[in-house]
Amino acid sequence: MFELTELPIDSTALRAKLARPEAGACVVFEGWVRNHHLGQPVNELHYEAFDVMAKLEGDAIVTEIEHRYPGCTVLCVHRTGALRVGELAVWIGVASPHRQAAFLACRRGIEEIKRRLPVWKKEHHPDGAAEWVNCTTEAASRGPKSADYYARQSALPEVGATGETQLANARVLVVGLGGLGCPAALYLAGAGVGQLTLVDSGKVELSNLHRQILFTTDDLGAPKAEAAVDALRARNPFIQLEALATEFAAQNARTLVAGRTVVLDCTDNFATRFILHDACFSAGVPLVQAAVHRFEGTLDVFRRGSGGCLHCLRQNRSVAELDAAAGNCSGGAVFGPAVGVLGTLQASETLKIILGRETAETFRQTHLINLLDCSVLSIAREANLNCPVCGRVETASSGAARTTSASADTPVMLEAAELAALGPVRLIALLDAGETFDPSRAVAGTLSLPMSDIAQLREMTATTETVVLTCRRGVRSAALARLLRAEGRADIYAMAAGSPAIMAAP
Ligand SMILES: [Zn+2]
Repeated sequence: MFELTELPIDSTALRAKLARPEAGACVVFEGWVRNHHLGQPVNELHYEAFDVMAKLEGDAIVTEIEHRYPGCTVLCVHRTGALRVGELAVWIGVASPHRQAAFLACRRGIEEIKRRLPVWKKEHHPDGAAEWVNCTTEAASRGPKSADYYARQSALPEVGATGETQLANARVLVVGLGGLGCPAALYLAGAGVGQLTLVDSGKVELSNLHRQILFTTDDLGAPKAEAAVDALRARNPFIQLEALATEFAAQNARTLVAGRTVVLDCTDNFATRFILHDACFSAGVPLVQAAVHRFEGTLDVFRRGSGGCLHCLRQNRSVAELDAAAGNCSGGAVFGPAVGVLGTLQASETLKIILGRETAETFRQTHLINLLDCSVLSIAREANLNCPVCGRVETASSGAARTTSASADTPVMLEAAELAALGPVRLIALLDAGETFDPSRAVAGTLSLPMSDIAQLREMTATTETVVLTCRRGVRSAALARLLRAEGRADIYAMAAGSPAIMAAP
């Protein structure tokens, strides 16, 4: 419950109101009038509020806190009128079965009342002068303090005053606040992206904390979007943050994507990825996408009219097959720093686009990053003429005939039956760091090669034979087959299913 009162606050009576048998803790905050502010003596404060508005906002704050911390009962009273030094201006009490929840709920109440309650304060000084305080929020404008905040960033010649304005005007959407979304949002907020909207319908779980760096044990059970906004607000008070604890889906995709400067895909499943990709594609909004499996990740920046799209990479595979290939599942194994690196790269690519520092290559490459051998492999992601999504757009927008080799029109990834139809081929098994190859489980004559040895691969594929590449899961071999096709090597394919002869590191 929230109350406004012109009468002195009776804290004993308020505490009695909170008493209940199931409560094991009561945390109380009292805000007192002090005799100084910003180095000036103060002898009286005058609080004014538009009662209806203040009551509505106060009730909303209390309701939100009780919802966020189930079992807590919150009571908040704010005084208005003239108050002398030592008098109680604000009283917030929380009763709860557990002390930790009571403490967190009370602290949140203090912050939200200070930040949101429409109550104005006039200071009276002993010399008779008086002034309104906190009428303008520094957070809303890039005043002297925010200049200090961004000092080390604006010192970059690539940023400067122009860049700071570009960042302040940017509107960025982050979908998914897991291992990728946390570091991405952290650096975007730190860089001063003016409006940052975070979407995630999930709640913080204990198994998230080893990699989802915005959350602590205090956040367990809290909606991720809200907990993330709290953490970011504490780091940068100069930006607008919006938490949407809702599922990103086909129904709200267009609305959420509309008007954004850049969108980040930090989700962990291909069903959502395609919805997000297609919404960004139709709105013409750049999409920065990353995915991580164990120690390796991929980074793609998509933009309509530049390079291949997510459908080009799909190669006729179903969403379930893509999820299986990428190891997507809620219980999947993840190396914490891998999502940290990829999420940070997503923030970096986003900031470059906002600052106009992107290049044509930004939108035409897939980067494969492996933390086991600390390697980065960048592969051209050309648009496929046959792609029902981007192929058509590029042809229409360029208006020119595209020249392409015959093999570029045929899918790179082949299923076993299609492979058999090719006749005799040269099979090459590509081994990632730490992987081993068991010839007895492979098709006779299969050659093996470390994946990082691109020069050797070029040599081995410089034959007139049809070449089929394979790797453990089928993803990287397809990327390398595309790379070689882009270099002009026709008749090269990859096995969609991957190879059972390649074993992961123990
Ligand atoms: Zn495409």
